[in-house]
Amino acid sequence: MNKKQKRWRNRILIALAIFAVVFALEEFGILTSLFGTPGDVYASFALFLIPYLIAGYDVLYKAWRNIRRGQAFDEAFLMTVATIGAFAMVLFPETEPHMAEGAAVMLFYQVGELFQSYAVGQSRKSISAMMDIAPDYANIEQDGQLVEVDPDEVQVGDIIVVKPGERVPIDGIVTEGVSQLDTAALTGESVPRHVEPGADIISGCINMTGMLHIRTTKHFGESTVSRILELVENASEKKARTENFITRFARVYTPIVTISAVVLAVVPPILGMGAWSDWILRGLTFLVVSCPCALVISVPLSFFGGIGGASKLGILVKGSNYLELLSKVDTVVFDKTGTLTNGTFNVVAIHPESGVDPDYVLSNAAYAEAFSDHPIAVSIREAYSGEIDQARIADAHEESGHGVSAQVDEHVVMVGNDKLMVEHGIDWHDCELTGTILHVTVDGTYVGHIVIADVVKDDAAQTIRDLHAAGVAKCVMLTGDRRDVAEAVGKQLGLDEVHAQLLPADKVSAVERLLNLEHGDAKLAFVGDGINDAPVLMRADVGIAMGAMGSDAAIEAADVVLMDDKPSKISLAIRIARKTMRIVWQNIIFALAVKIGILVLAALGIANMWLAVFGDVGVAMIAILNAMRAMRVKGV
Ligand code: ADP
Ligand code: MG
Repeated sequence: MNKKQKRWRNRILIALAIFAVVFALEEFGILTSLFGTPGDVYASFALFLIPYLIAGYDVLYKAWRNIRRGQAFDEAFLMTVATIGAFAMVLFPETEPHMAEGAAVMLFYQVGELFQSYAVGQSRKSISAMMDIAPDYANIEQDGQLVEVDPDEVQVGDIIVVKPGERVPIDGIVTEGVSQLDTAALTGESVPRHVEPGADIISGCINMTGMLHIRTTKHFGESTVSRILELVENASEKKARTENFITRFARVYTPIVTISAVVLAVVPPILGMGAWSDWILRGLTFLVVSCPCALVISVPLSFFGGIGGASKLGILVKGSNYLELLSKVDTVVFDKTGTLTNGTFNVVAIHPESGVDPDYVLSNAAYAEAFSDHPIAVSIREAYSGEIDQARIADAHEESGHGVSAQVDEHVVMVGNDKLMVEHGIDWHDCELTGTILHVTVDGTYVGHIVIADVVKDDAAQTIRDLHAAGVAKCVMLTGDRRDVAEAVGKQLGLDEVHAQLLPADKVSAVERLLNLEHGDAKLAFVGDGINDAPVLMRADVGIAMGAMGSDAAIEAADVVLMDDKPSKISLAIRIARKTMRIVWQNIIFALAVKIGILVLAALGIANMWLAVFGDVGVAMIAILNAMRAMRVKGV
């Protein structure tokens, strides 16, 4: 509890204590013996007013302020009218007094509100605990001394020092030191990651054992931590359809019940169906019951809990609407490279043309790929052990889905697939090996090809099985790679459909075709790393990006980001989404059913105000507790 909530709680406790004393004084007839009749009624009126005002003055004020702004008809309004009405029953001396109920309604309403504020605070805290990854300083070395500076001031390429126990403030590459990294805050993964010079490090991890020197590759503002924080802060703006529905519902519902209550209080006595006091009391009871707090609170809270729970496992969902969509996914489309496969290719073979040195083929390829971020390029550079002198390269450009070309010294080097060769009218030699083939040409002359192979991720096959088990009807893979490679992967993983040799634009049309096949409410999710597939991420109902290895464009374009690139998180995300939606609907149905039940009883004069009070607070409490379950994802 924060300070404000503590003060609030104390206020409620004081009001409750006074309430209890006054209640006892009245019940035991002490007021009557002190003030006689009808003096006792006025005394208890005055005495109950004290706890009422202590507990509810802010509600009264809020109702008053909203009325003046022309926005009546909210909870504060309902509570104010109902409780003032209960007190006003004192004007009907022939009925029992109802001041105790009036004060009690306000008290319990406040208990419910406090509880709700606490619950929202808790789930926000659990998100921010996971989000408590923003370091507020970075160490840099100055004249042999470590100084703490604002991470914003660190330039790209500067060396920062991260001591054991500190959080990595900025993304970068290790230049010195060996250590273990705790990535749990980002990925939910508890096994520490070993890093040594050359390793990529994302900010937000905790450095556990050794001192690390890191050359930054990004500004603080563009580093992983800053971006995640931004994502989560904006998540609550994207509301789910269910959530918007509830808001609209409350807007229509409150005036309707208010008018019904007035009709209930006024019409029957005019028609001579009973005493005014009796019907006014029914109208007031009706108002107290009608308060839709449970619904209005618990639905967004459930979504909030789902998003928070998912983020603890390294799944960032950018809004409740995506959680809702995820729960309805029945087709999952995967990109191959970097998504289902590791994206680190091994060189299987180099097949030079006769008379050409294999090293010549590899070194030219590595030079041409020097500026590409494609996993193929990274792997080729890795395979080439020599230094790459970037000054020798000019005019490098990349043609997505085809390959790259660059001028190396005086020579034009091209590296790419069959499509690239066809485009430039160059003949090539086929290869009998299964794998991704990179043809290499120098000045338009074919010099040979490199066969590379990628490995599927450890959890890829399990992911497809889990998705099928969860009722996902179709798992499809799209790739720009060769058909034989695609089919081998498809068979190995048990995919339902495989489409190969697609250009980025073909991937969009493939997804559009699949979207057209969706019927009813079913949704399609696309999972990619954003290299050449950001447009598809945008086009799918739910775009899921691999966050750690994926490009910035992917994180931007995606609706859901998996921090640790594990496809198995997709089935987990779907399960969390479904659980959240289940809880949301449970709350909606439960709250409405109890509400309608008590409303009917109140209209019939069977439910009294006490039942209304407990009904309302009870439903709100149960709904909130249920909503908080969405946050706990262990036993999804
Ligand atoms: P995927 O759909 O598997 O993610 P891409 O669409 O990124 O693959 O690439 C498709 C194909 O285009 C690759 O299999 C490769 O043949 C060729 N290609 C793309 N980028 C490069 C590159 N930088 N160097 C060589 N070949 C490339
Ligand atoms: Mg790709």
